Order: sequence, then C-alpha cells, then structure tokens
Amino acid sequence: MRTEERIQYLNKIKSPAIMTEELRQMSRNLWWTWNREAQEIFANLSPLAWTASNHSAVAVLNSLSSTELKARLMEKAFSERVADVLLVFREYLTRDRTWCSAHAAPFLKSPVAYFSAEFAIHESLPIYSGGLGVLAGDHAKSASDLGVPLVGISLFYRQGYFQQQIAPHGWQEEHYPLLDRNELPVDLVLQEDGSPLVLSVELQHTQVKFQAWRLNVGSTVLYLLDTELMENEDHYRDLTSRVYGGDTATRVAQEIVIGIGGVRLLRALNIAPAVFHMNEGHSAFLTFELLREQLGKGVALKAAEEWVRDHCVFTTHTPVPAGHDRFSPDHMEYVFGKFRTRLNLDVYQFLSYGRVNPDDSQETFCMTVLALKMARAANGVSELHGEVSRKMWRSLHTQKTTPVAPIGHITNGIHVRGWMTRPTQRFWKAHLGADWETRLMYPDLWKIISDRDLISDEEIWALRYWLRRELVEFARKRLRGQFTRIGEGSKVFEKILSPDALTIGFARRFATYKRAPLIFSDLSRAIAIFNDAKLPVQLVFSGKAHPRDDRGKEFIQRIHEITRRNEFFGKVIFIENYDIHVARCLVSGSDVWLNTPRRPLEASGTSGQKVSVHGGLNLSVLDGWWREGFDGTNGWSIGNDHSPEDPEGQDAADAESLYETLTESVIPLFFDRDEHGIPRGWIEKIRRAMQTLIPQYNTDRMVAEYVTKYYLPKKHVLRG
Ligand SMILES: *Cc1c(COP(=O)(O)O)cnc(C)c1O
Repeated sequence: MRTEERIQYLNKIKSPAIMTEELRQMSRNLWWTWNREAQEIFANLSPLAWTASNHSAVAVLNSLSSTELKARLMEKAFSERVADVLLVFREYLTRDRTWCSAHAAPFLKSPVAYFSAEFAIHESLPIYSGGLGVLAGDHAKSASDLGVPLVGISLFYRQGYFQQQIAPHGWQEEHYPLLDRNELPVDLVLQEDGSPLVLSVELQHTQVKFQAWRLNVGSTVLYLLDTELMENEDHYRDLTSRVYGGDTATRVAQEIVIGIGGVRLLRALNIAPAVFHMNEGHSAFLTFELLREQLGKGVALKAAEEWVRDHCVFTTHTPVPAGHDRFSPDHMEYVFGKFRTRLNLDVYQFLSYGRVNPDDSQETFCMTVLALKMARAANGVSELHGEVSRKMWRSLHTQKTTPVAPIGHITNGIHVRGWMTRPTQRFWKAHLGADWETRLMYPDLWKIISDRDLISDEEIWALRYWLRRELVEFARKRLRGQFTRIGEGSKVFEKILSPDALTIGFARRFATYKRAPLIFSDLSRAIAIFNDAKLPVQLVFSGKAHPRDDRGKEFIQRIHEITRRNEFFGKVIFIENYDIHVARCLVSGSDVWLNTPRRPLEASGTSGQKVSVHGGLNLSVLDGWWREGFDGTNGWSIGNDHSPEDPEGQDAADAESLYETLTESVIPLFFDRDEHGIPRGWIEKIRRAMQTLIPQYNTDRMVAEYVTKYYLPKKHVLRG
C-alpha cells in the first residue's frame, strides 16, 4: 500500500460503523489465527465467548450486539489497536510483492489445487485428526504468506474428529458434538443467481449430491465439500460427517467425494489449476475424473493419461505397506461400475491403475499405486522416508510397462508464525525486528543467536521460565476440569507440576508405533527419575487414539494408571482432548520434546519442529525429520541410525538409550547452574537448536521447495 492509500484507509475506518464491518470481515478470514494482536482483540471483546468457542472470532462477534460493538470501538485506545490490525490485514491482502512474485512468477497465473482429507487450520474448526492435517493447514498458511496461489479441497466434517474424555478407569471415550457453522467463518458457495451450488458424484447407481463451504485462510481459499443435503438418502447425508469415520464403504465414498467431487467443484467455479497436488492417497480418485474429462474431449487413452500425469503431483506419508488405503476389486466394481463404463474401460484396465501387478486378479486396489501411476512426480516427507518409500515401491518402478512417478523427498516443516505464543512472538520481535517473520527461512537471520551480546543467556532463560509457567497454569486449569468431572475436584492443584522442574512434553496421536509408554518400560528406573527432589523432572502427555484402535487406547490407559500412582501424581500428567491449542501450550512450555517412534515408521513428524522457536530441545529417535535435523549439538538422539530388525529387541534397546541419555546428559545439563542459577550449557544447546532448526524446518522453506521442484511447469521440474 502506498502512504496515501494507507492514510485513506485509516480515515475510512474512523467511522465505527465501517470499522465494525471491517472487523467482521477480518473475523471471517483465518488469517487472524496467526496474528496475535488480532486474537487479543477478539479475546478482549468477550473472554467468555472466546474460551467457550475454543477461540472462534466469529462466535465472539456473534455474542455482541452491533450497538455494543460500535460502542466498544468508540474507546480510543481500543479502536487504535483495532485500526492497527485492520491495516496490517488490508496490507497483507493487497500486497503485490511476495516471495512468489520474486522467485516463481510463472506460477502466479494459475493456482495449485491442494487436496487433503484433513486440514488443521485452527482449534475452533476441528476437521483434522493429526499430523497430516496439521501439515496441510500449515502448507496452506505458508502458501498464503509467500503469495503462492493455492486452492484447498477437503470435506466439511460436521462432527469433526471427536472430543476425547478419559473415564475414571482410564479408557478413552469419544464424543461427537456437532459443529455450529454459524460460529465458524464458512460461507456456502452460491451460484450467480444466489442459490446454493449443488453438484454430484456417481456412487454405484446413485447420484450423490454435495455442496461446498468456502473458508478464507489469508489469500488461500479452502473448499469443504458436504453431502448433508435433503436430496440425499440418509446414509449419504452422513457421508462427510466424521474424519475417517465409518467402514471401508464410507471410506471409498468419502474419497470419491473429495477426489472426483473436488475436481467438479473447481470446474464449476472456473478454476483451472496448473497442478493438482494429492496430499496422501485419499484424493487419488481425482486422477480418474481428470482422465474422464480428457476422454470426453475425444483425447485417446494414452494421451489422456499423459495429460493427467503432467498435471498431478503426489505426496506419500505412509512408510508401512499396511497403512495404505486398499479396496477390494469387488467393492471397486460395485461403486465404480457405472463410472468405469463411462470411461470405456474394462474391469482389468480400470483396476490396473491401482495394482502393482495388473495380472494378479486377487490384488487389491491401492490408492498409493493409483497416485504413483498418475502423477508426474512424487515425494516422501523426509530424506529417510523418501528412501523407505522408494524401497517399498521398487517393484512398481522396475516394471517398464507404465510410467511411474519417481519418488523424491521434501522434508516437512511447520508454520512458525501460527505456532508461536505471545511471549515468544514478543521475544523475537524485540531481537530481530518487526519484519523477521517474513525472513525466517533465511539462515543469515539466525546468526544473531550465537551472539551473547545481542541475546543474553538471561533473556533466553527468562523466556523459558515464562513459557514453562504458562504451561503449568494451563495444565492446572485443565486438570481441575478433568478431576471435577469425575468427582475428584478436591485434589490439590498447586501440587500439579512445578515451574522449576525440567518439563518434558509428549503429545501426538496415540498410534502404537509412537510408543508413548516407552519411558515407563522399567518402572523402577522411571520412579527414580521422577522422584529426585534435587533434580525435579515432570512429564506432560496428551493425545488421542483412533476410535477403532484398542491398542492405542490401552496405551492411554497405561499412562493414565501411572498418573494416578503416588510416585507420579502431579509429576506425570495427561491432558485430555489434544488439539492445536493444547499442542501450542505444550510445545512452548516444554523444555524437552520427547519422541519415541519405532523407526522408520515416523515418516516425518512435525511436533518436535514446533519447539525450537520457543527454546525447547528435542530428545528423539533418529527417525523422520530428526534424523536429518540432529547434528550432535542441537538436542539428543535415542538409539542409533539403524532401522530395527526385530521390533521387540528395538523397544528394549531404545528404552535403555532413553534412560541413559536422560540420566547422564539431559537432566544433569539442565540442573548444571552457575552462581546466578543459569544453566549455561543448556542455553548453549538452545542457541544451537534455534540457529540450525528454525530456518530449515518451517513451511515457508517447504512450500518454496514444492513450488520450485514440483509445481512449476514441467520444464522447470527436477526429476527424481
Ligand atoms: C503437530 C501436531 C501433530 C503432529 O505430531 P507428530 O509429531 O507428527 O506426531 C498432531 N496433532 C496435533 C494437534 C499437532 O499439533
């Protein structure tokens, strides 16, 4: 914005009526979820509505009459704060110079269509289950920040994933409250005449209708497809209601809606993407719809396939064969029979797209195989995962009959701006200047960290104390709620966690390969670690098990039992209902982020990347991103750089390594204080971690890499 435009805008919003309207518009763009000043404004307007809605700006504004809102904006100091934020928002949306315009201008013309079964944008919109969704959400936010045109496609899950409560005996219970779309910034997509846009996909012999909700995330637009329409039979109405809900039939149907329905929506909106990005195989049916379009134009089959391949890229996230979506040939024919005949393909041809060996009539139809056969390029999400994926699909690549996308890798990152808490943001703004957030992927910016004259140990230690205190108080509040619910509200909450103790965090989905209880595999050693009065250590857990994963629920139960034992009470705690908000509190307050996957099953992992900017340190198995992030000085490793031959033996070896590292390195270093009470060696590690990890493990770097390696027109694309 030019200076006079800025002045004009500020004059315009002096009118409370106009400012009210601008504020409403800003509440309907999730850009505010990565602007702390904007969040404080909404939180101030109604602290209660803010908390009750899990921080929805729309819900806050709904709870105020327009008379009240206008009156509040007449208060000078407040309206000045609002004006500041509105101006930043306006400038953001009207920028014409961005990373993309400077480095990838050819890509400005048409967007990437990014398909993902889940998007984690904010805690008030729980349409995600875990890391895959967080990655998609962070990708969308960084694309917006970098000025990369991106349109996201997903489903509008009205019941979200689920809300977790732990029953008194430790078993996870799932609740499915309905999302209230009036409290969310979603707008129904309409046609020109103002009526809802309704499209359909074929499922068996039925036309299943769907509508779409539009969601603004900065300059990124997400479309969430939704089959809850009166025109649909009951069981199709519920199709899109839960994240990964229901049985295989639901799964296939959801994937048809997202893949095929997603392409139809883009066409109806006249959006012509330069590239279709499949984030995991769930959306790979989109390639069938693109194929159908080409064939419908009279293009011959080989040329049509070639066109589809030219326009698609694929990211795989699953390092185990069993983790890939597979559907039986019979079921495929049952749901796709009609669609297949429209493509003029026989059953053999149709199923071949999803088979490694098309001649094996028993082989199930695999979404990953479909994606690999129909994309021009594919990638794993860390270096190690790229290797594992190439090995897993080697047999597909050695067949010379059909082209198969080469598998490279782009290591995941996180959207740093969105994961910061207020104290952290203040800290960096003070040290790096106001515009540091737009430069965070450049390593030069972070050289300052090694300079004690520019950032002192005392300042870093003060930040750590502030963040740990916030986590302690958050945990006490949440635990009071949990205990009250089960009739034990009289427990002493001041005894829960200590702001002086070494605080370890462990929070993620309770998939069994992540081995949450590993640290308790030798109970007497664990008791010793958590009961040394001179070296206090505490551990905060959080995480959901998939509703059908009983072993994951047993892990939660085991941790729950531990938290109830006298030796661990108040020192090992479990916070229910893990979500983005809980994650943010944990990754900022924890001194050490513990990660114990059974290697090589953690394709990347991203939660550990969220701690560096807050001064947290990783203690992790050398799997996923940490295998490349760890340099010997910036955290700790568990185990060695090998993948296990026998999983049980590996569990024991990793547990041993974990105990040893904790008791011989981590705990002593944290409590090695000088005469001012400052752990100099520990802070040196924090500096190393900040300097080496923040510029690399963020989604600005990651999206830039996707654009230059995968999205740009084919002639720019690096193969393999
Ligand atoms: C970051 C995050 C994840 C991903 O954690 P991993 O380290 O990949 O296991 C999952 N869920 C939530 C809510 C997160 O914030």
